Amino acid sequence: MHEINSFSDFGFNETINEAIDSMGFKTPTPIQKQAIPIVLAGSDLIACAQTGTGKTGAFLLPLINQLSNQAEVAGVKALIVVPTRELALQIDQQLEAMAYFTHISSLAIYGGGDGSGFDVQKKALTSGVDVVVATPGKLLSHLNLGYVNLSNLSFFVLDEADRMLDMGFIDDIIRIAKFLPAKRQNLMFSATMAPNIRKLAKNILVNPKELSLAIAKPAAGIKQEVYHVHEDEKVNLLKHVLDANPSYTRIVVFASTKTVVKYISFRLQADRYAAKSIHSDKEQPERESILLDFKQGKLRILIATDVISRGIDIENINLVVNYNVPDDAADYVHRIGRTARAENKGQAITFINGKEHRKFQRIEQLIERQVEIMPLPEGFKTGPEKSDRADDEKSNRHKKPFKKKNFSNKKHHGGKPSAGKKTQ
Ligand code: AMP
Repeated sequence: MHEINSFSDFGFNETINEAIDSMGFKTPTPIQKQAIPIVLAGSDLIACAQTGTGKTGAFLLPLINQLSNQAEVAGVKALIVVPTRELALQIDQQLEAMAYFTHISSLAIYGGGDGSGFDVQKKALTSGVDVVVATPGKLLSHLNLGYVNLSNLSFFVLDEADRMLDMGFIDDIIRIAKFLPAKRQNLMFSATMAPNIRKLAKNILVNPKELSLAIAKPAAGIKQEVYHVHEDEKVNLLKHVLDANPSYTRIVVFASTKTVVKYISFRLQADRYAAKSIHSDKEQPERESILLDFKQGKLRILIATDVISRGIDIENINLVVNYNVPDDAADYVHRIGRTARAENKGQAITFINGKEHRKFQRIEQLIERQVEIMPLPEGFKTGPEKSDRADDEKSNRHKKPFKKKNFSNKKHHGGKPSAGKKTQ
């Protein structure tokens, strides 16, 4: 295999090169340099790669190239299975951009849709869409009804496989694989290579080539800081940080639970900050419209649970605030990976109360560095310093004051899927 320095070294057809140009990609990222030749050569691949590394392009570009070179055949040619609807939509959007100059059609299928959404999806699946990007449950509902033609399927992609296993999708994935023709190319991406991922890979992939580019470390461009602060003072400290950085136009605040997300949102909105929240109680169209406002710079502050911490790509985020220390150390890397995308600079600030120290130590072990401790602004207090048990965090201090008020506590009925339409 000759050395890859630029996109032209892959030998993509002109329609793909044109799309790469129009997306403004100048050189392939490391995962793209290594994965694309393997995919083009027809091998199965298991790759350990974090979001933010360009891994989506690493599988989409060669996949679209191969499909656009194929003779016209009926049915679905590629199936990409992902853990969340946000990721499904985002991959579908990248797909539309990368396949823009080809005839390839695509559809995003995800849970939470109502009847008409299902019918629109059914129609598209029956009339033969080329690439399907789907969450496991909804996809299985369609497959079980028997109208999806998978006999000419060439690619099966599992993205964020570790996340899918965490979310309990293992049986669904095995069931989906049973619907697929035996002769196909399998690509699997995961942020970690835990034993259960290897076990799944053994089940799905055949003699895969293996790539490991992910060390679970945040990008070098992220300036990381922590404040040791009393839980009750976190909202005021957040406001202080927001006020101290007026030049930051895109800020994401992550909190561990939707209760805390709603609380922060209420407190910021009460003080007229341009802040909105997304979490699983919000319906899909509302989540999409808030994300779009944020992407377009109409909304300065987005408050979210981990619903968007993985895989969601928003450009130019200046600051990520971890209002809580995440339970899972890898989630820290995913959360702060929302900033400093594609070699930009960014800042990540984490608020640590007296009970969150140990959890943060685990994060520091994972990222193999100590994060700078910032002095608290005048008038703020730290602590309580004792009781450093991670479990104590579950007793949620914000619950009581929030429960008394009955704002924006909409029940989740699921959003109406847009059948693969672009959301922007
Ligand atoms: P991903 O890791 O797939 O989520 O991609 C992270 C971000 O990098 C997305 O905004 C991509 O559009 C962007 N990206 C992917 N490949 C390249 C590239 N070769 N050059 C510049 N940006 C890229």
